[in-house]
Amino acid sequence: MKTIDDLTTELGGDLRGKRVLVRSDLNVPLDGTTITDDGRVRASVPTIKRLADAGARVLVTAHLGRPKGTPDPAFSLAPVAQRLGELLGTPVLFANDTVGTEAKHITAALTDGQVAVLENVRFNAGETSKDDAERGAFADELAALADAFVSDGFGVVHRKQASVYDVAERLPAAVGGLVQTEVEVLKRLTDTPERPYVVVLGGSKVSDKLGVIDNLIDKADSLLIGGGMVFTFLAAQGHGVGSSLLEADQLDIARRYVEQAAEKGVDLVLPTDIVVAPAFSADAPATVVAADAIPDDQMGLDIGPDSAAHFASIVSAAKTVFWNGPMGVFEFEAFSGGTRAVAKALTEVDGLSVVGGGDSAAAVRQLGFTDDQFGHISTGGGASLEYLEGKTLPGLAILEEQSPEDPA
Ligand code: ADP
Ligand code: MG
Repeated sequence: MKTIDDLTTELGGDLRGKRVLVRSDLNVPLDGTTITDDGRVRASVPTIKRLADAGARVLVTAHLGRPKGTPDPAFSLAPVAQRLGELLGTPVLFANDTVGTEAKHITAALTDGQVAVLENVRFNAGETSKDDAERGAFADELAALADAFVSDGFGVVHRKQASVYDVAERLPAAVGGLVQTEVEVLKRLTDTPERPYVVVLGGSKVSDKLGVIDNLIDKADSLLIGGGMVFTFLAAQGHGVGSSLLEADQLDIARRYVEQAAEKGVDLVLPTDIVVAPAFSADAPATVVAADAIPDDQMGLDIGPDSAAHFASIVSAAKTVFWNGPMGVFEFEAFSGGTRAVAKALTEVDGLSVVGGGDSAAAVRQLGFTDDQFGHISTGGGASLEYLEGKTLPGLAILEEQSPEDPA
């Protein structure tokens, strides 16, 4: 894929005076107009700063929430533009439309090294339209604002949307640093992982993670299963699971994974003990039981301490680890032990440790770990899972078509 360096060369070796449209992922949680977690804004800063420092006139486009294709003040990017300015240490201009009069005016007035944020791209029906012509028409308007495009919103590269996909067809386009890093890491997990390669899956449902299991069961040496999905596996083996989370329609699939793992020589590891409680609540009395002896009136809310120690020993001895999905209901202190043990083991890995998934990333931060203790914490939940499922991500595929290696 073309990088910003390649793009600079293509534009004559100098970004000064060039209008560069950057697609960032600025989809932060808001409480009114207060940003409650600015992680995505922070993650977007390096690429924007790099372009601005090189003298480009930077136009940032992004979405916030799910407005219905028309302006809605509750989803305005104005507070995000303000925060971006604080993080950049320089005021950021804000256009209260995306491709309208104000966007055009601000674009024309931008000076070298200045940054402007365009209003929520999803205020325009063309952005997410399934109709290629409607999306294309909107992408034409976006493209008309700029001389080049940089795709840096990893959280949206699995979307075939105007500001992600169609605009890259219409302008000289490159991948931003954030997307580049994500892709490099995910490639290492799928193409040439250093072994032992351990995949840890948890979270609430098996059905959410089928594609990832399908694809990684061929590649991993060990597959550790925790979280709510455990109980579908245990039930598939004929054990009672009390009132634990259970996907009755996934029992055959769970059984098939156990068989497949055996055929492929993958060590599929299930917990042998479980922390149970009579109710789903923070102060429910917790006890530890054997995984094949969950009482009828109890539910499993975490993997047990023996299992946590066993999982941790497998993880910490690995050269490559991908972890998605908490081991238990980490939001409640009494059921956070499994997640904490696995997270700690990831920090001890002498190799590549990757945390993927929104709740998993939130879990490690909530449990007091810092981002730099892990090899990589993916910013794009859905996009990273789709990549690991082996799917083609439209926003990456379109950049590959523009790649310099292509004879075209
Ligand atoms: P991610 O966002 O990292 O992909 P998921 O969305 O799949 O993770 O799952 C996260 C949720 O799974 C957490 O809110 C956690 O409380 C829940 N969870 C984990 N273990 C259990 C369990 N045993 N029973 C019910 N919920 C669970
Ligand atoms: Mg989640």
